[in-house]
Amino acid sequence: MTLMGDRVGELAANLAAVRARIAAACAAAGRDPGSVTLIAVTKTYPAADVVALAGLGVADIGENRDQEAGPKAALVAALARDAGAEVAAGTTGLRWHMIGQLQSNKARSVAGWAHAVHSVDRERLVRGLDRAAAAADRVLDCFVEVDLREPAAAAADPGRGGTAPDAVPDLAAAVAGCAALRLRGLMAVAPRDGSPAAAFAVLARLAAVVRADHPHADALSAGMSGDLEAAVAAGATHVRVGSALLGARPPLH
Ligand SMILES: *Cc1c(COP(=O)(O)O)cnc(C)c1O
Repeated sequence: MTLMGDRVGELAANLAAVRARIAAACAAAGRDPGSVTLIAVTKTYPAADVVALAGLGVADIGENRDQEAGPKAALVAALARDAGAEVAAGTTGLRWHMIGQLQSNKARSVAGWAHAVHSVDRERLVRGLDRAAAAADRVLDCFVEVDLREPAAAAADPGRGGTAPDAVPDLAAAVAGCAALRLRGLMAVAPRDGSPAAAFAVLARLAAVVRADHPHADALSAGMSGDLEAAVAAGATHVRVGSALLGARPPLH
């Protein structure tokens, strides 16, 4: 078997295991597995892995850095063209999700490759994304990212991404008021310490508040490799899974 074939086999096995986890979590919660979208988080992994995942039926790709994702999305399109019609068909339908912290000066670049932004956490970014999406003649799906850490922990380590829970309704209204943005719902990462279930319960309550004002904002982006079951139990509609699909990443620092 070729090296490439080995990698596809590995990705296929990992994908089957993750899909089985999602199905089990949905069964436990009495939910339809079709109500959960799996976003494969391909950060640090090559474009060839994206093409392989697309070939295995993955339609949603997550990235956390604009500098990495823009070129990767372009390379995926080029690889697909070279590989012929069948591969091209699988990759042109891909939806790219920006899930990482984002500076407003990157809005234009992100609007060039992303279909959805999960890390909307301040008004300045909302305005930047709206202008960029309008200039590109597109509509960007947006999730308002919530910082679920205790206020003291958030104050001790600011700039981690996400807005304070009490600022969520205003930020959601700002997104909803933009012509080139579509408010989809909320997003969060469970804090490192504490129970993911408790954190996702807080997120679900906030999401219900937002939905009361914006009935179409019915999506909830929560759950990663380590805590997707807790997220599905709390109502997640989008899980963002990296290492369980692609393998462990080298530590960031
Ligand atoms: C990297 C990342 C993920 C995926 O994390 P894994 O633990 O590898 O599944 C999900 N969400 C965000 C915001 C990320 O940065």
